[in-house]
Amino acid sequence: LFSRDVTFMLSVVQLSQLPPPNRPEICFAGRSNVGKSSLINALTNRKGIARASNTPGRTRELNYFNVDDRLNLVDLPGYGYARAPKTAISTWTKLTRSFLRGRAGLRRVFLLIDSRHGVKDSDLELMEMLDDAAVTYQLVLTKTDKIKKSELDKVMRRTSRTIGKRPAAHPELMVTSSEKKTGIDDLRAEIATLALA
Ligand code: GDP
Repeated sequence: LFSRDVTFMLSVVQLSQLPPPNRPEICFAGRSNVGKSSLINALTNRKGIARASNTPGRTRELNYFNVDDRLNLVDLPGYGYARAPKTAISTWTKLTRSFLRGRAGLRRVFLLIDSRHGVKDSDLELMEMLDDAAVTYQLVLTKTDKIKKSELDKVMRRTSRTIGKRPAAHPELMVTSSEKKTGIDDLRAEIATLALA
């Protein structure tokens, strides 16, 4: 899927700008600096296709990518930025909530978690929104090259426990490093099955 054409489609700041729901969609979400752009770039084999979400002015846009005319990949703005003004947080919440409720083709949200930090309150808030909207999500640990194996085991156990406590069942935790390209093929394979489903 990703060896083919991946192109930037558009940035959405208002729901009225959303493209027609004519393809399956997957979505990437996570706190600012979690490694989301790096992971999307690694997945698509393109260096600059996704830009860091914490650059000023890019925090309110939903970015759409067309993957081989078969799937839309949606990059949600990063959240949890400590110095974000309240209005920005409320804009993010409103946009995300209505996006999640309104997209019939949305197959799954990949929720990225920095393996050094584990699940934070802001991640739990998003999980709450996702469970409310009955959207399936899969947690993805990022930057695992930065921690020791023993720490990774610990954060994997803790994160799996968190996901196990959610009201609905969700697919298994994935482990990645964009730097070392760990887990990228597994993630591609997972996405490919979602594009066909
Ligand atoms: P975003 O804000 O979520 O889009 O995060 P970025 O992809 O811009 O990454 C934030 C920072 O983490 C950058 O300095 C990246 O180089 C670094 N980073 C991202 N992924 C990895 C990874 O897998 N390993 C390491 N060591 N650093 C990473």
